[in-house]
Amino acid sequence: MSIGEGSTGATAGGEAPEEAPGRDFIRDIVAADLQAKRHAGVVTRFPPEPNGYLHIGHAKSIALNFGIAEEFGGRCHLRFDDTNPTREEQEYIDAIERDVRWLGFDWGRHLYYASDYFERLYEWAELLIKAGKAYVDDQSPDEMRIARGTLTEPGRNSPFRDRSVDENLELFRRMKAGEFPNGARVLRAKIDMASGNINLRDPVLYRILHAPHPRTGTAWSIYPSYDYAHGQSDAIEGITHSVCTLEFEDHRPLYDWFLENLPVPSRPRQYEFARLNLTYAVLSKRVLTQLVRDGHVNGWDDPRMPTLAGLRRRGVPPAALRDFVKRIGVAKANSVVDANVLDFSIREVLNKSALRRMAVLRPLKVVIENYPEGQSEELEAVNHPDDPGAGTRKIRFGRELFIEHEDFMENPPKKFFRLSPGNEVRLRYAYFITCREAVKNATGEVVELRCTYDPATKGGNAPDGRKVKATMHWVSAADSLPAEIRIYNPLFMSAAPDAGNFAADLNPQSLEVLANARVEPALATAKPEEPVQFERQGYFSLDPDSRPDRLVFNRTVGLRDTFAKVVGK
Ligand code: ATP
Ligand code: MG
Repeated sequence: MSIGEGSTGATAGGEAPEEAPGRDFIRDIVAADLQAKRHAGVVTRFPPEPNGYLHIGHAKSIALNFGIAEEFGGRCHLRFDDTNPTREEQEYIDAIERDVRWLGFDWGRHLYYASDYFERLYEWAELLIKAGKAYVDDQSPDEMRIARGTLTEPGRNSPFRDRSVDENLELFRRMKAGEFPNGARVLRAKIDMASGNINLRDPVLYRILHAPHPRTGTAWSIYPSYDYAHGQSDAIEGITHSVCTLEFEDHRPLYDWFLENLPVPSRPRQYEFARLNLTYAVLSKRVLTQLVRDGHVNGWDDPRMPTLAGLRRRGVPPAALRDFVKRIGVAKANSVVDANVLDFSIREVLNKSALRRMAVLRPLKVVIENYPEGQSEELEAVNHPDDPGAGTRKIRFGRELFIEHEDFMENPPKKFFRLSPGNEVRLRYAYFITCREAVKNATGEVVELRCTYDPATKGGNAPDGRKVKATMHWVSAADSLPAEIRIYNPLFMSAAPDAGNFAADLNPQSLEVLANARVEPALATAKPEEPVQFERQGYFSLDPDSRPDRLVFNRTVGLRDTFAKVVGK
């Protein structure tokens, strides 16, 4: 994958660099269909099951479905695939709506639920029974599984396959009436137990489930299967292009079989694309649910999670996710995207939009010995180097400051140009200072630096033209604010975590808390989802855990990627 390094033409402080939509095989199909007038307009849908929060993989699907609708003047529905009441919750429905909106997409009045169609789906199932194309099977789940056969062996017909239409109808109606316990019977399509495609070996249409549903309450004791509900929901809504991930390719013949055998009002077509996989992440709702339930993370919006809620809390702007999915494109072959590509998109957007601030993550006190006690002064700092319109702010300089601990070394190696005894550096927007002495505590740690400043270098330049090799950020001791900084490392240690046994791959160092940071006073008004750049440190945004007396910032992303460091770019 290549990453464009060129300028995207967007201006500082603006939105994401959103270029003309890319082309891919699905957009080509849509364009050809519209050109050939096969449809009056394009209608797509995003069909989440409300059994968890959306993750970045869903963002790819959302951007594709809503993007196509937007680009071709059609519409995209948000449809909750709520056919399994044991796993679905209102909390997830609310979170999904919030996240799709946050990502920047709008379904208008086209919000639907598969459960809206339960009545119609049921009637259609009766039609299949009457046509001799569906039957009630009394086999146990185990018996059914064994009789289904394997990839190399055909299945065997169920002993209940040849029940009369009347018997099937009666049993199915009694299933609906709630007369049988969970798992006692199912309704199956009568297709072909010898089919080379296992999905066509008499798939299940309805199962008995005595469970209340968030929307239909206790009205139903049977619920349709995903395969049976999905295509018919598409047809009811007039979906033209039903776009899903590759694992449904083998389900397409079944999708088509239902549409051919039922009096559906429209004829959608299914197209499959490769799902998003990301290094160091697991994009599976089952695993994400377990991470939350087992307390490996602090909820669905933990900034280490690849969920949209987690990314938002971390400070990732929605424009960066849109840029990311555009960058990776849509293909028909599965692949794994390097997490650095996501970071690249985040930096692209934040570099333009984030205001610059100074914060010291691991403070080391500096006393400027020749600066008068009790005195201080205001200096001017720019808010964005590429955007004069972002203005300036005042920062206060005084006798006592904090600098970054790692910016000082008592015995520096040759190439260390920052502060060390006798060495002169520039403090950003302020003065040149020279280190005179390192003060140590009883255990020999450096706890304070005694320095002098050159009053002639105000603003950061020496009138005699002498140069320094380092410019460092700093804050004043008197009016900087205490803050907690949370640094996030990958949740998993392995680039390809084992979804089956993910606990073994969890990174014990995924969260680093710097409890004693100091930030400049302008950050008192920081808000969540308004990322800032801490100069020389990266992009950060306020965490909702913040209180007025204790600011908490999340590091969204560092300034450079680790790859660049390794190859010395
Ligand atoms: P599951 O079905 O196992 O609960 P899911 O991630 O497939 O999990 P859905 O709610 O069914 O969840 O997904 C909604 C839509 O998002 C589907 O159309 C699905 O194909 C798509 N989708 C899910 N994961 C990805 C992914 N990693 N990349 C791209 N699209 C995805
Ligand atoms: Mg799914």
